[in-house]
Amino acid sequence: MIMVKPITIIGGGLAGCEAAWQIARRGFPVRLWEMKPLRFSPAHKSPLLAEIICSNSLGSNAPNSASGLLKAELRQLRSLIVAAADASAVPAGGALAVERGAFSQAVEAQLSQFSHLEILRQEVEDIPRESLLIIAAGPLCTETLAQNISSLTGAEHLFFYDAIAPLVEGESLDKSTMFWANRRSDDKDYLNIPLTKDQYEGFYRELLAAKVVDPHPFEEQHYFESCLPIEVLAARGRDTLRFGPMKPVGLVEPTSGQQPYAVVQLRKEDKEGRLFNIVGFQTKLTWSEQKRIFTLLPGMENVTFARLGSLHRNTFINSPLLLEPNLSLREYPQILFAGQLLGVEGYMESTAMGLLAGINALAIARGKSILPPPPTTAMGALIKHVTTKTKNFQPMNINFGILPPLPHKVPKKERGERYSARALAALSEWMPVD
Ligand SMILES: Cc1cc2nc3c(=O)[nH]c(=O)nc-3n(C[C@H](O)[C@H](O)[C@H](O)COP(=O)(O)OP(=O)(O)OC[C@H]3O[C@@H](n4cnc5c(N)ncnc54)[C@H](O)[C@@H]3O)c2cc1C
Repeated sequence: MIMVKPITIIGGGLAGCEAAWQIARRGFPVRLWEMKPLRFSPAHKSPLLAEIICSNSLGSNAPNSASGLLKAELRQLRSLIVAAADASAVPAGGALAVERGAFSQAVEAQLSQFSHLEILRQEVEDIPRESLLIIAAGPLCTETLAQNISSLTGAEHLFFYDAIAPLVEGESLDKSTMFWANRRSDDKDYLNIPLTKDQYEGFYRELLAAKVVDPHPFEEQHYFESCLPIEVLAARGRDTLRFGPMKPVGLVEPTSGQQPYAVVQLRKEDKEGRLFNIVGFQTKLTWSEQKRIFTLLPGMENVTFARLGSLHRNTFINSPLLLEPNLSLREYPQILFAGQLLGVEGYMESTAMGLLAGINALAIARGKSILPPPPTTAMGALIKHVTTKTKNFQPMNINFGILPPLPHKVPKKERGERYSARALAALSEWMPVD
């Protein structure tokens, strides 16, 4: 009898459990390593697998939202995590929220039905090389394992904090008061919002008074000088932002021919300019405060946020430089990454990267190769994001701005529905291994 080597997975979180399920339900052996309950990260508390570590909401379930689309795609591909969430849902308006204990128990019950799925409760320190491996140790991966990951990726390609600036939809900006210019060249890559002294000081006062999210105890005092939150910079003095991310030097406003008092710079996230990053505006402000304060800026009054800013402890790799579209390391094709560790942000996004890593690992084990889901799907768009080279790679949550634009302009309220219909049709054409 030929012995088949199991696919090994490190981390029994959302991504690791989803990957294990996708492999095991297709009859292939899996070995899943989870360090709890012997060791807990600073945020994990439950001994159960698939722990929801913070909010019990998994985001919108509305079919015309990007988050709802991702869930619909996961359901189409028989996701264990979404099925367990549906079975343990609690009322939460349009969101999918779960009773967290019941949710984790449902995941464990499904995984323990397979005799060919072995769950080992032990911390993994070294990276096993004897079989196909999926690393899904999450944003709070242990130090020793992280060190060993960095010996595969190069220390410069493993990050421990994210610094996420808000993203806004280009279409929703009123560009009439803004101007295109670069600080150091004649190129016109940045869209600049000029501010008068009064506008700058009003904005500065709002920032100082704004509510911030309390850091977790393990996150305190870990800001890097090069990526401080804007409210921390503002607290250093009235002019600190004017000498930092809001510096006007080298910029001339075309209408007045003058250098503005301060500027906010917006940089395109994609070639078409569908999404713009507010440069240097990583922040710990609460989401409602970000929406309130950033929409005070001229031209941003009616802006649609594709992603809000944040800054937290988060281990992730520089995936665009390291990973193939099947989530395997270019240098070590037997090692795949899954979950938040590869640079997506959020419960469902991590689950999606677990599902795809599982299917891809199985394809490799069976000597097959499969294409990633089409980029018009939410999952395909996330894969594109994490494998497309970019200057400053930061984790991404799902939003319609990372999907290719619709072929025709449609009214804003119909857009979500159209994106979703196109994505679900494309996904049903895409067949993973079975
Ligand atoms: C403090 C905090 C709050 C968050 N809040 C939210 C939120 O409200 N909403 C949201 O959508 N996302 C949130 N996130 C992001 C969230 O962590 C991810 O969306 C999701 O949990 C990631 O899934 P994962 O499977 O990649 O990692 P995890 O769910 O963290 O799973 C990783 C697993 O690997 C295990 N592990 C780690 N190292 C080892 C090792 N060496 N050996 C064996 N096992 C190991 C861990 O114990 C854990 O069970 C938060 C993240 C953090 C850090």
